[in-house]
Amino acid sequence: MTVCVLHAAAEMFPLLKTGGLADVVGALPPAQSQLGTDARVVLPGFPAVLAGLADLEPVADLGGAFGAGNVRLERGVLKPHGVTVYVVRADPFYDRPGNPYMDAANHPYADNDRRFALLGWTAARIATGADPAWKPHIVHAHDWHAGLAPAYLRAFERSGAPHVASVMTVHNLAYQGTFPASEFGALQLPGDFYAMEGLEFYGHVSFLKAGLYYADRITTVSPTYAREIQTQAHGAGLHGLLQTRTHDITGILNGVDYSIWSPSVDESIASKYTAAKPGSGKSKCKAALQERMGLAKDDDALLFGVVSRLTEQKGLDLLLSAVPDIVQRGGQLVVLGTGDPALETGMKNAAAAHPGAVAVELGFDETLSHSIIAGSDIVMVPSRFEPCGLTQLYALAYGSLPLVHRVGGLADTVADSSLENLADDLATGFVFDTFDRAGIVGAIRRAFALKARRTDWKAVVKRAMGQNFGWEAAALAYAEVYQGLLGP
Ligand code: ADP
Repeated sequence: MTVCVLHAAAEMFPLLKTGGLADVVGALPPAQSQLGTDARVVLPGFPAVLAGLADLEPVADLGGAFGAGNVRLERGVLKPHGVTVYVVRADPFYDRPGNPYMDAANHPYADNDRRFALLGWTAARIATGADPAWKPHIVHAHDWHAGLAPAYLRAFERSGAPHVASVMTVHNLAYQGTFPASEFGALQLPGDFYAMEGLEFYGHVSFLKAGLYYADRITTVSPTYAREIQTQAHGAGLHGLLQTRTHDITGILNGVDYSIWSPSVDESIASKYTAAKPGSGKSKCKAALQERMGLAKDDDALLFGVVSRLTEQKGLDLLLSAVPDIVQRGGQLVVLGTGDPALETGMKNAAAAHPGAVAVELGFDETLSHSIIAGSDIVMVPSRFEPCGLTQLYALAYGSLPLVHRVGGLADTVADSSLENLADDLATGFVFDTFDRAGIVGAIRRAFALKARRTDWKAVVKRAMGQNFGWEAAALAYAEVYQGLLGP
């Protein structure tokens, strides 16, 4: 039997991306297709989504819902992989400026609850026959935006629809989609769903809790994060519920789409290079990056790179406290990011204080992100918490050694260049244990120390580039989760 899966999500690369979620939703379905699964995606009809799909055609009229006017279901194809994408066409909800969640002034849209309820509801409608030509066996909801999908499936089942299995994947427990209780009435769900045994969360409606409560299985994006979220320290108030579901939770590491993130095929970097011979190609990328960012052109300066959302999660305040330690040792720092105004200002101040050694670009720039991953010697991901993290995986592929905090997916994917790991041929980067200045500075000093030992440095770069985090392993692990729901 061909397993049919419908992914419900708010973002999908290359159509629309604000973070790692988009990379996952862009790469997992084609990897699943390779294994013989019929994996499709449903997305809100944001302008960028409509513009990026080929062969868009109407599938069904879904009637009026959530005050969005007449909602239509359309279907198109995302080339080059050929993934089928359903689009929820509700222009009053989705045809707006700004990013998918916020207006141009960075304020969340006031009707986000209804905008994303419509996504979950449409996924459940597709699962119960809205497309006469296709029906999924499993609805796979991603993050709070799609968190109501399992709740609608349960509600439809109550009204006589057949059971359709659901999986909820948590990409980041910190984003929960909570809304005032007064909004519950607008969600078209049975009244008793607003309960502790349901989607109520401390007097609010929580979309993520709905997904965690009503889905048949829960996955998250690394084994360590799967354990962490069941603890009070990292459970963001949901650890109690997650503990009751411990046997339904699986941690599956995200993968890397090596057709996009590989220095041997990357068209957007200054010079391609391979693991067998990174030397001169990687140096050219470094020189091009130094030039582009206005840094001193010095191949010997250890270049630290950051590509990140500028939010508290990412630990960049800690990095700012360590900038003098980088610069005093002759190192350089380049940062690409956007987000929290205080962090943006902090970054700009650091660049002004250290001209030629620290350079910052505020904004979201896909091409520059590749240049930084390729041109840096070290890529820093000092996150307070990190469900999986993709940039450290990209960094490994480009032989740019990741420097990370030992937490979540970072702990699962990077091995520190300690003496014992070097001796046992395990080291792939730098890992610090305590989230404080001493911790990060210790790792920075290890990076300088390793750079001074040319042979060891080269060996670690080679080992980093040899790591395989391809999507196939993740696709197989998800297939096992599906199998557990559908039986042999
Ligand atoms: P998160 O999803 O929490 O933002 P991940 O590490 O999982 O973190 O994924 C981040 C993704 O977003 C990566 O593909 C990274 O390259 C990209 N990214 C983050 N900030 C920027 C930016 N300012 N410009 C371009 N790409 C960015």
